Amino acid sequence: MPMYEFACRACGAEFEELCTAAEAAAGKVACPACGARKSERKLSTFASKDAGGKGGGGCGHGSHGGFG
Ligand SMILES: [Zn+2]
Repeated sequence: MPMYEFACRACGAEFEELCTAAEAAAGKVACPACGARKSERKLSTFASKDAGGKGGGGCGHGSHGGFG
């Protein structure tokens, strides 16, 4: 059984509870602080990372000459 994070909508307490996904989605987990069953599952946050950037290269061309 997974552990979910909840935030009580009645008193604002945040807590973690082991419950099924269905229970978590239904918000039927009782708040340990006030006992209200108005918990709202907190969504885990993701850190997105984007990679980019491309470097360009060049080649030089030179001429040489001379007579000494
Ligand atoms: Zn509460």
